[in-house]
Amino acid sequence: MRGIYGELMRVLIVGAGFAGGVIARELAASNRFRVTVIDKRDHIAGNAYDPLHPQSGSRYHKYGPHIFHTNNSPIVDYLSRFTDWVPYQHKVRAILPNGLSAPMPINRATLNSHYGVELADEQEMKDFLDGVRKPCASPGNALEYLQSIYGEELAELFFGRYTRKMWGLEMADMPVAVVARLPVRYGDDDGYFDDQFQIMPAQGYLALFERMLDHPAIDIRLDTAFSRSMESQFDHVFNSMPIDEYFDNAFGPLPYRSIKFEHRFDEPYKYDVPTVNFTDTEKYTRKTAWALYPGCGGEVGDHVTYEIPCSYEDNNMERYYPIKTVDGWPQRRYKQYAELAKERQNMTFIGRCGQYVYYDMHQAVANSLVIARKFIESTG
Ligand SMILES: Cc1cc2nc3c(=O)[nH]c(=O)nc-3n(C[C@H](O)[C@H](O)[C@H](O)COP(=O)(O)OP(=O)(O)OC[C@H]3O[C@@H](n4cnc5c(N)ncnc54)[C@H](O)[C@@H]3O)c2cc1C
Repeated sequence: MRGIYGELMRVLIVGAGFAGGVIARELAASNRFRVTVIDKRDHIAGNAYDPLHPQSGSRYHKYGPHIFHTNNSPIVDYLSRFTDWVPYQHKVRAILPNGLSAPMPINRATLNSHYGVELADEQEMKDFLDGVRKPCASPGNALEYLQSIYGEELAELFFGRYTRKMWGLEMADMPVAVVARLPVRYGDDDGYFDDQFQIMPAQGYLALFERMLDHPAIDIRLDTAFSRSMESQFDHVFNSMPIDEYFDNAFGPLPYRSIKFEHRFDEPYKYDVPTVNFTDTEKYTRKTAWALYPGCGGEVGDHVTYEIPCSYEDNNMERYYPIKTVDGWPQRRYKQYAELAKERQNMTFIGRCGQYVYYDMHQAVANSLVIARKFIESTG
């Protein structure tokens, strides 16, 4: 395929995260494109970046813990070209008002610890919840959904406070889908996810990206923010920058939640799981002891990271989570931007901020594979 310079078609990829990285690799591997990847940050791997911390010397996830879990076996196969894996079943505990900690998502042990009861089995837990739940045939928001499973008190303690901190919203204003991601447990299972594949890259995400982007047809430029003047130098742009920012907020900004990370070193950590949730009303949502994640190294407590959710304007414009509300106004606003984007024949918006959707890593990979393969076909 010849591009505007009569040479191989030249493609610009904005953002070296999963969305951009996969497209870069696929186009390069087709031997028909010269690919330039830019990122405004000083590293590849996007939000999955997991370098060694200069102070602790051990690995950590700079933008918060990234746990790989999926039922999509072709995506695992695809990524296995660039990494080996280690099995890892994620577990989380919540710190209760009585100072004890208990599994999250709520299971039998959580109720026993919180109420000081001795529910003997799954049936007794179901019976207990039957006594407190607030039935609702078709829940219209997260609050109705959670109260219909756990009742008012548990819904507020384990989800209401967390949601207010995490999203800056009331549960009644959030759609069911946001909280329905978490499995509902009645027995003793204390795993956080139910997916078939719960694994972590053996040498970390950064190593995975180094291999994925290691191709003679890929040129990487870090510390390089997108500017419109770049467009004329390329035949096509795949763009994972925030779509509202690209269009100068023509329809108003899209709402995002962000997180500040507070690092503490040499702090005692008494839990046997890497991440604990706070159920109180203080500013922190969770803390993570990196040494308990596979491949991070170090000693437990060497490096503990606290998370403080905030607006992205308060955090250097770092947009992490697209926001969903019951009335759906952010998604309607996004659609206005997506319509405008259709007029740009030579640009495809990709990824979490380009498509304004919360992708887990495997979803970002799957979506980018489809986009790359269609593009290769359409230009063949
Ligand atoms: C706090 C947090 C925790 C998460 N935990 C998990 C998890 O446990 N499991 C899971 O599967 N997924 C998790 N995710 C989601 C995961 O990070 C996403 O699936 C992944 O980031 C999507 O990749 P992306 O390429 O769309 O975005 P990103 O990884 O954000 O990459 C986009 C890149 O584009 C760059 N960029 C943006 N604008 C510009 C510009 N103007 N010019 C140049 N470069 C630009 C950014 O610097 C960034 O590096 C988490 C996300 C967050 C925020």
